[in-house]
Amino acid sequence: MSVAIYRCPELLVAGRWRAGRGEGRHVVVDPATAEPLGELRLASRADLQEALDCAGPAFEAWKAVPAHERCARLERGVARLRARADDIAALLTAEQGKPLAEARAECLMAADLIKWYAEEARRVHGRVLPARSADARMDVLKVPAGPVAAFSPWNFPLVLSARKIGGALAAGCSIILKAAEETPASVAAMVACLAEELPEGVLQLVYGVPAEVSTALIESPVIRKLSFTGSVPVGRHLAQMAAAQLKRITLELGGHAPVIVCEDADIESTVALMVPHKFRNAGQACLAPTRFFVARSRYADFLEAFQAAADDLRIGPGDAPGTQMGPLAQARRLHAVQDLVARSAACGARVLTRAGRVPEAGYFAAPTLLADVPLDAPAMVEEPFGPVACALPFDSLDEAIALANRSDYGLAGYLFTDSARTIQAVSQRLEVGSLAINGIGVSVPEAPFGGLKASGWGSESGIEGMEAFLETRFTHYSVP
Ligand code: NAD
Repeated sequence: MSVAIYRCPELLVAGRWRAGRGEGRHVVVDPATAEPLGELRLASRADLQEALDCAGPAFEAWKAVPAHERCARLERGVARLRARADDIAALLTAEQGKPLAEARAECLMAADLIKWYAEEARRVHGRVLPARSADARMDVLKVPAGPVAAFSPWNFPLVLSARKIGGALAAGCSIILKAAEETPASVAAMVACLAEELPEGVLQLVYGVPAEVSTALIESPVIRKLSFTGSVPVGRHLAQMAAAQLKRITLELGGHAPVIVCEDADIESTVALMVPHKFRNAGQACLAPTRFFVARSRYADFLEAFQAAADDLRIGPGDAPGTQMGPLAQARRLHAVQDLVARSAACGARVLTRAGRVPEAGYFAAPTLLADVPLDAPAMVEEPFGPVACALPFDSLDEAIALANRSDYGLAGYLFTDSARTIQAVSQRLEVGSLAINGIGVSVPEAPFGGLKASGWGSESGIEGMEAFLETRFTHYSVP
C-alpha cells in the first residue's frame, strides 16, 4: 500500500472519531520498507477522561439492551467486517507486514470470533436453586461486569482485539480498547464496522503513551474489568496495578510452545503442518511451535525435512504476490531475533538457515532452525517471537515431557503420534493451556484459549472467555 493511500486513524471517544489531543505522536512504519506511513496523534489525559466519563452511562444503556438485540447488532457489524475484509487486510499488511492472505484470514477470524460471542450472548443464563422453604426462591444470576479496559498488541491486532471486544460487548459491558500504536488503522477499521451498530460510547478506541493510558484506565473507579495481551513484564506490571485496585484482570502473555514428535510420527506430514504454522506472521505468534523435541531415531530426518521446507518459503513484502513470509513487524523485533540467534549459537546451538536470501530493505529475517540447542541456551528459555525454531532429540516419552515442561511458559503445545497411550500421557502431563494432537488447532472461537504458568491468567474465547466479562450474583427472596 502506498504512503499516499494509508491514513493513520483517529480515536473513537464518546461516539465521535477525532484526533488525539495529546502532545505525543507515533510514527507508523511499513516494516517491508522501513518507510514511515503516517503519524498517529495520541490521546491526552483529557481524552482518556472523556472516554471514561462516557463508558459508565454507555454501560448502563448497553446492558439494558436485550441479549437477542445485542446479538443482532453485533452480527450486523460482523457482516460489515466481512464485506470490508479486503480493504482491512490491505491496511493490516501495510502497517504490520504479514502477507495479504494471512491478513485477510485474520480479518475473517476476527469476524468469526465476534460472531461466536454474539451468538453466545443469547445463552448467558444463571440457574434456579431449590429453595429451603416453599415460599422462597433462590436465583443465581449472571450480570455484565461493567466497563472494561482492554489492551491488545500488534502481532494479531484484529484477532486479539476481537477476543476482547466480542466478549465484552456480547456480555453487555462497554469497552475502552487501547490497541497497539504500531498497527492502528486496521483495528480502527474493524471498530468502525461494529460501532455503527452500537449506542454512543459502548465501544471506544484510544491510542496513547501505553503506560499513561493503562494507568489512567486502571486507576479510574469507572473501570471494573481488565484484559491484556502482550509481554510478561507488562502483564505483571498491569496485574500489580489491578491488584492494588482489586480489579479482575485476564492476561495472555505469550508462550514457548513445545512440539513432541514421536517415533511413530509421519515426518513428512508433521513438517508440512509445522513449517507454515511456525513461520506464519514471521513467527510472531504466542502459539507458534518453537521447541521441537524429536525421537532420536527420527531426529536427522526431521532436521533435514524441516530445514528444506523452511528454506523453500518465499520471503518478501506482504503485498507481493506469492509471498509466504513477510518482514518482522518492527526494527526492535529484528534486532531481538538476531541477538537471540547469536547468543544461542555462542552457547553451542547449530544454526541451520540459508543465508543471504532476505530483502535488504525493511525488517526481514530468514527462517532459522537451531539444532542441538543446549537447554540453557537463550532460545530454549526466551520466547523468540520471530522465525526461529529449536530442536533436540529425546530417548523416552518421560524425557520429552520433562523437557517440554521446563519452560516458564505454558500456552500451546503440539504432539505428533499415532499411539493412544502416548496421547493420554501427554494430554494429562503437558503443562499447557491448549494442546493440538496431529494438527495445529489450538485456538478456535468456541474453545477457551489461555495459558498456565507465566503465560497468563484466565481464558479468552469459549464460554470461559464470556464468563470473564460476567459477575455472579445470588438472589434469595421470599414470596410474602
Ligand atoms: P512490550 O513489552 O514493549 O509491549 C507489549 C505490548 O504491551 C505492546 O502492544 C505495547 O503497546 C503494550 N504495552 C507496553 N507497555 C504497556 C503499558 N504500560 N500499559 C499497557 N500496555 C502496554 O513488548 P514488544 O516489544 O511489543 O514485544 C516484545 C515481546 O512481547 C515479544 O517478544 C513477546 O514475547 C511479547 N508479546 C506477546 C504477545 C502475545 O500475543 N501474547 C503480543 C505481543 C508481544
